[in-house]
Amino acid sequence: MSEMFKGYKGRALAALKQYNVRVWGETQIRSTRGDFKGIILPRSENDDDRHIVLKLANGYNVGIAVETITDMKEVGYKEAHYKIPEKEFPITPNKPNVKLLGTGGTIASRLDYRTGAVIPAFSPGELYGAVPELADICNLTTEKLFAVFSENMGPQQYITLAKAIGKEIEKGIDGIIIGHGTDTMHHTAAALSYMVQNSPIPIILVGSQRSSDRPSSDAALNLMHSAKAAGESDIAEVMVCMFGPTSDEYGLLHQGTRVRKMHSSYRSTFRTIGDIPLAMVSRDKIIPIKKNYNRRRKDRTAAILPYFEERVAMVYYYPNMHPDIIDSLVENKYRGIIIAGTGLGHVNKPLYPAIDRAVKAGVAIYMTVQTLWGFVHMFVYDTGRDLMSLGIVPAENMLPEVAYIKLGWALGQTDDLSKVKELMLTPISGDITEREPYDGYLIFQGGVPEVREFLKTIHK
Ligand code: ASP
Repeated sequence: MSEMFKGYKGRALAALKQYNVRVWGETQIRSTRGDFKGIILPRSENDDDRHIVLKLANGYNVGIAVETITDMKEVGYKEAHYKIPEKEFPITPNKPNVKLLGTGGTIASRLDYRTGAVIPAFSPGELYGAVPELADICNLTTEKLFAVFSENMGPQQYITLAKAIGKEIEKGIDGIIIGHGTDTMHHTAAALSYMVQNSPIPIILVGSQRSSDRPSSDAALNLMHSAKAAGESDIAEVMVCMFGPTSDEYGLLHQGTRVRKMHSSYRSTFRTIGDIPLAMVSRDKIIPIKKNYNRRRKDRTAAILPYFEERVAMVYYYPNMHPDIIDSLVENKYRGIIIAGTGLGHVNKPLYPAIDRAVKAGVAIYMTVQTLWGFVHMFVYDTGRDLMSLGIVPAENMLPEVAYIKLGWALGQTDDLSKVKELMLTPISGDITEREPYDGYLIFQGGVPEVREFLKTIHK
C-alpha cells in the first residue's frame, strides 16, 4: 500500500486522490458538518473506508465521513516521527538520586497513529528524552516494571512494585517515583501504603490525564513536580502527585490512603478526601499544607509487607440490590466483602439474612460510605445497629477502595478474623483519621485558585 495514502481504502482513498491530498498533509476540509483544519493521519488496515481522520491543532483526532466532504485542500505537510530516543541521564554530583519505576498508563504513552489509539509505548528512558528538565532536578534512573493501563494493575503488580521499592530503599535511593495510569492510581497508592510501611523516603505515584502528544498534556509537569518532591521533600509517605488546580499553577501531594480520582478528564482529577492534601509542589518549591506526616530519615528501614488475598470483593449498594449478590460471593468462597453503603452506612432489609449467612460462613464484612466524605455511623439508626449485630464492622472514614485494598492485605496475612479486625481498625498512613478538617470539604474540592476565581465572579 502506498505510504502516501497509508491505510486508506475504498471511498476514503478515492476522496484523497480526487482532491490530491496525502497522509501527513496539513489539510483544510470543508464539509456539510463544518470546516476543519488538521493533519491527515494514517489509518490501520482494519478501519472502515468511510472516514478521513484529522489531527486537529488542539491535539484531538476527528473522523470526517467522506460523504459529508465538499472540498479538501492540502496547505502543508508534516510527517511525524514518534520514536523519542532513549537518552542516558546526565548524573550531577550533589543532586538527589531518584528512581522512576514505570508501570504504564497515559504518562508512558504516545498516540499510535496506525490505530489512532493511545498505547503504552514510552519507556522511562524515552520519558527523559521528552522531558530533559528532569536533569535540573535530580539524577534519575529508570526501570520499566510493566507496560499496562492501570485497569490491569492488581495484587501481583502491587507485590512486585512493593518488592522493587524495598530493593531501591535498601540501595539508598533518595526518592521513588512510580509512573502509573491514573484510573486506578488510588488503588495502587493504597496498596503501597500498606505493603511499604515506615518508608525513610518519599514514594510518589504520578500519571497524566492527557498523553504527551497533546498540547495540553500534564505529563511533563507532573513528572517534574514528582521528581522535585521525591528528591527534595521531607515527606516520607506514599503519595500521589498530580495537578492541583485545572491550570498548570502547581501540583498537589496527596496521601496514598486519602486520595481518589474524581473526574474522568480534568487534569486536576485527584482530590484528597476526608483530609487536606500534604503539600503543594511547583518546579522550584514544596509548600507543606499538613503538619503531621512521616519525615524523611535515612537511618530508617522500611517494612515490606507484600500480602494480598484475592478473594475479596467490593459491593456498591444500590436500592433493590438482591441478596443473591452476597450469597454468590459466599458460594464462590470470597473471604471478605467491603460494602459501600448509603448515607451513614446502610443497605436494604432483604440483604440482612444474606449478610447473616455470610458472616456465619466466616466472611469478614466491613461497611464504608458512598458519600466518600464523612464517617460510617451505624449507631444513629436502628438499621445500622441491626447490621452491626449481624457482624458488619464499620470501617470509620476509610474510603471504600482503600478499605477494599486493606482487607485484601489483611486477609493475605492471617485467617484469624479478630487479627484482621485489629489490622483493619488500626489507622495506617492516615487511612482512618480522628476527625475531618472542618474546611477540607469546602475548600480543597475545587483547589484554592478556582474558589478564588469563582468568588470573584460573585462579588464583583
Ligand atoms: N486508562 C489510563 C490508565 O489508567 C488513563 C491514564 O493513564 O490516565 O492507565
